[in-house]
Amino acid sequence: MVAKKIQQIFAKVPEVKYGYTDISYSSFSEEYRSALVFAVPHEEQLSIESYTEEKFEKCTLNARKEIEVILQDIETLLKEERIKYYIPPVGQQNEKDLLAVFSFKYAAVNAGLGWIGKNDVLITEEYGPRVSLSTVLLDYPFETGRKITESRCGSCNRCVDICPHKALKGLNWDINALRNNLIDYHLCNQKRSAYIEKHGRKNACGLCMVVCPFGMRETI
Ligand code: SF4
Ligand code: SF4
Repeated sequence: MVAKKIQQIFAKVPEVKYGYTDISYSSFSEEYRSALVFAVPHEEQLSIESYTEEKFEKCTLNARKEIEVILQDIETLLKEERIKYYIPPVGQQNEKDLLAVFSFKYAAVNAGLGWIGKNDVLITEEYGPRVSLSTVLLDYPFETGRKITESRCGSCNRCVDICPHKALKGLNWDINALRNNLIDYHLCNQKRSAYIEKHGRKNACGLCMVVCPFGMRETI
């Protein structure tokens, strides 16, 4: 059984969270029936005390490397099983509307991996926002997870308060919320892009993530 074989792949990396969602909400549903979505925790679970931009960038890059290894195993299996699949690209298609072709984090909440925080990223109970996501669209009817429809941020406002540009609006997410309700994404992107000339890449600002109490030993 395919689900069992995918389970065996993830048994080799027990720290990785994964689940399935149906994608009837997506335009990809004409070609694919479900999505496998997984969250790889960062090698160092940074707090505001241990944070540097360089460390955060390194954590993200290394998580992406781990994602590539897992994806290779999954692709090999899907080819053996002759299951049609598509791995959507990471990140936004362009710098204008800043939208991805397929939202990993929306798939993740639908698969029950977590909710969207006031910082507009996926929050998991285990690691908070200190994860990187990946998704595989599949033409196969996997048993799907129970979607999370409401925020568990409560009255916490740490990410909103720490943003140096006041890009976060402080609203609690629910499944019907739009990105614009939570964040001025263009402002965040503009401020991070200002570093391209100097550093050859956008600033990997992770301030609104490392401040999150979820995933740290303390609780809110
Ligand atoms: S990534 Fe940085 S600039 Fe963007 S919302 Fe978070 S703290 Fe603000
Ligand atoms: S810092 Fe607080 S408000 Fe922001 S995502 Fe984490 S729990 Fe939610």
